[in-house]
Amino acid sequence: MVRVGIGDDLAVLDWPSGLLLAGVDQCLDGVHVDSKVHSPRAIGKKATNRSLSDCAGMGSRPVAALIAAALPSGCGLDYAKEIYFGAQEAAAAQRCAIIGGDTASWGYPLAVSVTVLGQSAGAGPILRGTARPGDRLYVSGSLGGSVLGRHMTFAPRIELGVRLAENGGVHAMMDISDGLSRDLPRLLGPEGSALGAVIDARAVPIHSDAEELSRRDGRPALEHALHDGEDYELLVAGTELPMPGLIEIGAVTATPGIILEVDGKRTILQPLGWQHRL
Ligand SMILES: [Mg+2]
Repeated sequence: MVRVGIGDDLAVLDWPSGLLLAGVDQCLDGVHVDSKVHSPRAIGKKATNRSLSDCAGMGSRPVAALIAAALPSGCGLDYAKEIYFGAQEAAAAQRCAIIGGDTASWGYPLAVSVTVLGQSAGAGPILRGTARPGDRLYVSGSLGGSVLGRHMTFAPRIELGVRLAENGGVHAMMDISDGLSRDLPRLLGPEGSALGAVIDARAVPIHSDAEELSRRDGRPALEHALHDGEDYELLVAGTELPMPGLIEIGAVTATPGIILEVDGKRTILQPLGWQHRL
C-alpha cells in the first residue's frame, strides 16, 4: 500500500476506494509526558498510541502515520532516533506504516505530534453524536489512576474497535482520553444535545491504579475512575452487545444531563475530566 515511504518530499500510498480518516495528536513535555522521567522511546510510543487510539475510537484501522518532533536544543540525533523507534514500535504493533517525519530544534520543551491516516472497518466509521435513547453504554476496561504509569504504556483498542464496527449494533463510539465525565457528554453530541445518560456507579470498573491513588490522596477511587484521564479505553453506545471486553455502565436517556446513580440516589455527574497534567 505504501509506494514511496520516508525519503522523498511526500510519501505516496495506494488508497482503496472508500473513506480516508485522518487525525493528529500532540504530546507536549510537561503536559502529556515528562522528559525528565520518560525515555524518548517511551515518549515516541505514547505519542503514536494516542493517535492510534483515535482510530480505535472510530472503529477504523490505522494505515499510515507521520511524526513531527520539535526537540529542545541540545538533544542529539540519538534522542530523535529513539523517539522515532518508539513511534515505529507502536505503529508496527498495529500494522501501521510510518511514512514520513520531520525534526527541528528549538529553545523550548519537547513537542511530538503524530498524524494518522486510517481506513474504516465494517460499518464504520463509528461517530459521536449518533447514540439513541435507550442505548446501553459500555467501556472496554477499568478506569482511573493512569497517571501512575498506564498513560505511557497503554495499548490502543484497535482490534476491539474494528470488531465493534463489524458488529453493527454500535451507534456511537470514542476513546476515553479526558476522563469518562468529560468524554461521555462528547459521545452524546455537541453541547445542547437532547440526549443524556444514567451511569450506575456500582458498574463503573475501577482500576487498581485508581484504588492506589485513592489510598495516597484520600479521594474515592470511584472519583478517579470517573474523572481521571488518559484511560484510552473505548466508550460505546449501542444495542445489547454481549462482547468479551465490554463492561456495561449505564444507558442513554432522551433527556439531557449525565446522572450518576449511587445506591439508588441520583446526582448530576459534573465533567471534571483530567486537564492533562502530570
Ligand atoms: Mg479521541
